[in-house]
Amino acid sequence: MHVHTLTFLKAFNYELAKNCEVYTLLVKLRKHIGHVIRGTIGIFENNRPQKIVSRDVKRFEIGKSIGGLPIECFQIGHGGRKIILAAGIHGNEVGTVKLAQHLTHWLHANTDEFEMMTVFVVLCLNPDGFSMAKKNPDYFHGGRIGRFNKNNVDLNRNFLTKSFRQNSLWMFGKNYSETVPVYCGPHGNSEPETKALTDFILSNGIKMLVMFHNAGREVMGSNDPLAQNLAGLYAQKTGFKLVNGKMWPTNKQTGTAKDWCEENSVSYIEIEGSVRWGSDWKTQKGALIAVLEEFKMLRSDIN
Ligand SMILES: [Zn+2]
Repeated sequence: MHVHTLTFLKAFNYELAKNCEVYTLLVKLRKHIGHVIRGTIGIFENNRPQKIVSRDVKRFEIGKSIGGLPIECFQIGHGGRKIILAAGIHGNEVGTVKLAQHLTHWLHANTDEFEMMTVFVVLCLNPDGFSMAKKNPDYFHGGRIGRFNKNNVDLNRNFLTKSFRQNSLWMFGKNYSETVPVYCGPHGNSEPETKALTDFILSNGIKMLVMFHNAGREVMGSNDPLAQNLAGLYAQKTGFKLVNGKMWPTNKQTGTAKDWCEENSVSYIEIEGSVRWGSDWKTQKGALIAVLEEFKMLRSDIN
């Protein structure tokens, strides 16, 4: 090769490498700025007064966490058609617990409308992780402290399913491109939190589970017509992205609530809210009411 061409190519590669570094730096900076902005909003949201659920609402424990904290459940209505909504399976997703509080408060104020069905709301499935997140709010690193339970298990990988593995992945970031290995427990349903939820669903003949996460702005439904229909409705009302079964990155996720629901004939929708620390109530209220209304109107032979 001609010596000048070689020099030119070397210089070109150097420039390219340098530009790549600049690009990587810019991406990192953008990510960092994003964390700072979201974290600052988080400080404000996390310190707003919370909605208190009235003492009049029927409440009971479905079990205790590994750290001995109660897993509380509220009940509205007494009808035969039963739905359960659960927040805080990932304790760091603090806003989901606030969303569940807002929802319970609203349901209580509108009890008459839902008397013909039963709505259960689990405020926080992972109270140990949640209290850790509340004590150590990780505002400027995406709010990741408190995801696991006290055994360091990712509860949404611990369900008793065919897909269960002891080790799995936590996927996050843009298009779920970032992954962190997570421990899923020695066997499916090994953790008292997941066992409490699944035992409660099965022993009460509950036909639908709605699980709250954040903050990916997405909605996903299990592979059955009811869940697909309600997930579509939720996406439409919130503007969240509707993720169909094929796009849902379950191939890398194991032992999930979705898999458990599909194996146990329970319809499932998973909601990834839009904020980490805020209730997201304004954004999700209309969709939640629409889903509950739709569920209430179902023909009794379906549920
Ligand atoms: Zn989550």
